[in-house]
Amino acid sequence: MSILIAVVTLSVIAALFGLLLGYASIKFRVEGDPVVEKIDALLPQTQCGQCSFPGCRPYAEAIASGEAPINLCPPGGETTMLALADLLGVEPVALDDEHDTEPTKTVVVIDEQTCIGCTLCIQACPVDAILGAAKQMHTVIADECTGCNLCIPPCPVDCIHITPVKVEPDTWRWPLPEQNFAAPRA
Ligand code: SF4
Ligand code: SF4
Ligand code: SF4
Repeated sequence: MSILIAVVTLSVIAALFGLLLGYASIKFRVEGDPVVEKIDALLPQTQCGQCSFPGCRPYAEAIASGEAPINLCPPGGETTMLALADLLGVEPVALDDEHDTEPTKTVVVIDEQTCIGCTLCIQACPVDAILGAAKQMHTVIADECTGCNLCIPPCPVDCIHITPVKVEPDTWRWPLPEQNFAAPRA
């Protein structure tokens, strides 16, 4: 009998907390900025930081607030710049001098014979594309690797190498399929 009372009591408490959390999630819900969401959706999500912002979302927020131009994303190249111009109804801007090359799709591979299993590359990878454990060899999941190269500098034995990917429909990520946008306004 005492077990039944305990189960019923816990069930009632769990139900009350569930109702409380449900109410709080509605009452205190923070709405995202729809403009930021749309801009972010056009960015490659490489999270490489080459735009001088710590990821695609911060760059999207900077564009939305007028603090950054639309031409700073090398992985996206001109395609993304034009998509942003179209979305925001602004004139296209030539790619920044430092970002004026069209992207070449690459991934990295780890020389597993040289890897010492320090895990520093795993900690640097923004998209969890590296598998491994301490003192074990590490490997890169090619399909997940965005080619941002952020894992290369931390490697103490220089065993991470850049490899070009043959451009095929299923290996080329940019432009994203949904980036088939209309021509920019004249
Ligand atoms: S350069 Fe482009 S892909 Fe890289 S973090 Fe900035 S917005 Fe994202
Ligand atoms: S494995 Fe390296 S190059 Fe690939 S996404 Fe991760 S940090 Fe970037
Ligand atoms: S940083 Fe280099 S040595 Fe360390 S685990 Fe990664 S690939 Fe191996």
